[in-house]
Amino acid sequence: MLYNFGSINLDHVYRVPHLVRPGETLASHEHRVGLGGKGANQSLALARAGGEVCHWGQINGQDGWVRDMLVDAGVGVTGVTDVEGPTGHAIIQVDDAAENAILLFPGANHGFRRADLAALIDATAPGDWLLIQNETSALGDAIVLAHQAGMRIAFNPAPMSDAVLDLPLEHCDLLFVNRGEAAWLAGLDQAADAPALLDALAQRLPQTQTVLTLGADGAWFQHGQTRHFQPALPVKAVDTTAAGDTFIGYYLAALQDGAQAPACLILATAAAAIGVQRQGAAASIPSRAEVDASLAG
Ligand code: ADP
Repeated sequence: MLYNFGSINLDHVYRVPHLVRPGETLASHEHRVGLGGKGANQSLALARAGGEVCHWGQINGQDGWVRDMLVDAGVGVTGVTDVEGPTGHAIIQVDDAAENAILLFPGANHGFRRADLAALIDATAPGDWLLIQNETSALGDAIVLAHQAGMRIAFNPAPMSDAVLDLPLEHCDLLFVNRGEAAWLAGLDQAADAPALLDALAQRLPQTQTVLTLGADGAWFQHGQTRHFQPALPVKAVDTTAAGDTFIGYYLAALQDGAQAPACLILATAAAAIGVQRQGAAASIPSRAEVDASLAG
C-alpha cells in the first residue's frame, strides 16, 4: 500500500482587476473554492492513474466535502481526521493579466505531532510506501519512524525550504525534485545544468533514486551509475500548476504496477503534458483513460 502524508488545502481563488495594494480594499468579481494542496493533488493524481493510495491528513470537521471529493476519486480516507482548527487554505488572487498572489495558511496541515505519525505508521506493513511533501509538520518524525518500520519513503520537498536540509534524507528511497528544489538541495546555482545537479545529488544521497523534472525540458531518473532521460512532450502549456503533482502521482502508480523507471517516466510525462494544457490544479489532472489514449496516439 502507498500512504500519502500530505497537505489538504482549500484554494479560494478570487478574480481581481489588479492584485490588491497595501492599504487598499478591493472588490473581487468572482470567487471559487476548490480542493488544493500538494498532498491532496498527488493523492488525486495517484488515484486517477489507477494507483492505490491512502491519504493521511487533517481537516476541519465543517469541510467534509473535501473528504467526499477524495473518496469520489478513489483515494482512501481513513487516515483523514477531523480537527477543531481551520483546514489549511490559500487565498489566491488572479488578475486580468493572469498574474497571481497567494496567501497560504497551513492550518490543520501543521497540526501533526510525532504521536500522530507513530499511530499511523504503526498500522502499516514493512515495504509499504510513504509519500511526503513539504507542506505538513513533523516531517523529520515521519521519516525516522517510517524508516524504523521498514517503509519505503518517497519525498517531494516542495515547496522547498531550508528546514528540508536538516531532514534525514538518507532514509528516502525516492526523491522527486524540480530544478529549483534540486539546486537548493545540492547547494548549486539555479542555472546549473542537469548533469551537474544529478552529480551533486548522487554525491549527497548515493542510495536514493532521484527523479529530476525540468518543466518543458523533460525529466531525468538517476540511481547509482544509472541515468535515464525522458523529453517532455511538445505541447502548448496554458497553466503548469500541479504539473509536478500530476507527474509524481502517475510515476508512483506505474511503480506500483511493477514498471521500471523508463516506463514510469513515459507515463508521468504523458500525464503531465495533458495537465499543462488545462487550467487549474486538481481539475487539470487527467484520467488514466485520457493518458492511455494519448500514449496510444
Ligand atoms: P513542478 O511543477 O514541480 O515545478 P516541472 O515544472 O518540472 O515540475 O514539471 C513536471 C513535469 O511536467 C515535467 O517533467 C514535464 O514532463 C511536464 N511539463 C511541465 N511543463 C511542461 C511544458 N511546458 N510542456 C510539456 N510538459 C511540461
